Amino acid sequence: MGKIRDNYKKLRDSIKDDVTIVVATKTRSFNEITEVIEAGAEHIGENYVYPEAAQKYEELGDISIKLKWHLIGHLQSNKINKAIPIFDLIQTVDSIDKAKEIDKRVENAGKIYMPVLLEINSGKEKTKTGFLPVIKKIKEALIQMEDLKHIEIRGLMTMGPQEGNPADAKPYFTLTRKIFEKLKDVNTINSKMEILSMGMSNSYKVAIQEGANMIRIGSLIFGKRE
Ligand SMILES: *Cc1c(COP(=O)(O)O)cnc(C)c1O
Repeated sequence: MGKIRDNYKKLRDSIKDDVTIVVATKTRSFNEITEVIEAGAEHIGENYVYPEAAQKYEELGDISIKLKWHLIGHLQSNKINKAIPIFDLIQTVDSIDKAKEIDKRVENAGKIYMPVLLEINSGKEKTKTGFLPVIKKIKEALIQMEDLKHIEIRGLMTMGPQEGNPADAKPYFTLTRKIFEKLKDVNTINSKMEILSMGMSNSYKVAIQEGANMIRIGSLIFGKRE
């Protein structure tokens, strides 16, 4: 005990206040998560809606309501109904169709609108979903999504290619940032480019240099995953 708290505080103190830390809690235990919350963490990022995120949300009880919950893993269509009530921000909207599917279900799930980020496949990886990093295409997508009344597009998220060392991620972060800046002029009714979520334990420094205002951190806080 104590190590997780120290790691979180050290990280928090080492970066600018306007960068939000989303703590990536996949596979971590209740005790590990409560320790990071006690250290001041307010944003929790989960990869799996059900059962993992749903169980943790339940277990944390009253504490859950005070936290901001982020979905950072792939959202399967058949989990959308369960995701909407739990999450404050779905970071992984990877297609227009996914946005439409969410939009359709928001009211029934008891919300007025669902804040989301568009996931950018900045490495153009064939094995990954997401919007290709082409400004014209994403602009068109925003316009096509403009009539979705129950989603609010708050920004962009990218992973960048997993392999290689952190410095290799830089061009992908730079590209995503440029797109983010250009989309600020598009101003559709339900979009506002405020959040740029990029960078993990091994790449957050580069990501912040390249303009990230939200980072997603797991192992740097909790130690290596089993
Ligand atoms: C696990 C995960 C992270 C955090 O990764 P670490 O290397 O443990 O910091 C960030 N983003 C996503 C989407 C993840 O799945």
